[in-house]
Amino acid sequence: MGDYFQIIVDRDVTGADATPLAARVVAWLVAEGVIGPERTEPVLGKGPGYPPGPRIREVVDSSGWGEPWQGGPLDVEVTRTMFDAGQWADPASAACPRCERDTEFHDETWEEIPGAWDPFSEAIAGWEEGGEGLVRCAHCDASSPLVDWTGMGGCFSFGNLGFTFWGWPDLTPAFLAEFDRRLGGHRTAFMSGKL
Ligand SMILES: [Zn+2]
Repeated sequence: MGDYFQIIVDRDVTGADATPLAARVVAWLVAEGVIGPERTEPVLGKGPGYPPGPRIREVVDSSGWGEPWQGGPLDVEVTRTMFDAGQWADPASAACPRCERDTEFHDETWEEIPGAWDPFSEAIAGWEEGGEGLVRCAHCDASSPLVDWTGMGGCFSFGNLGFTFWGWPDLTPAFLAEFDRRLGGHRTAFMSGKL
């Protein structure tokens, strides 16, 4: 199950604060024995990540996993990134942060609604170049930053800091709650997927 991954994204941290915040979270994970201190584990298509630590079992639910299992690396990304839940990530809709109404991307037969995704696609391109990535809501006409839209079904998330756990059993709710606290109360997103 090495291609299964879980991602925790910090949606609020600034580009300047991402690296020091990542360092604090890594120090906490190392101190807890959840990961090892040195980046020694290869990550697909990237530089090495942190190996799982001796106490990995305390933060995951491995009840459905055959023994023995071996967790993969933790990859820490500290640049502006559109995190996605894998190649099949295909959100049904997104919710406007102002009026909370949904913009649908597919009809009942899962056919793409022509043009529905265009404002998001344009905003993503702008956001990746360093802009705010404003998306105008077709219902209320308000323009809101991409990062404030919600409900993309756990398919996409946008932020300057993300932690990808490769090949770990499901992280426990207690661990995820503590992780959120370590991110200073920032808004976070959690996604899981497979490559
Ligand atoms: Zn709206």
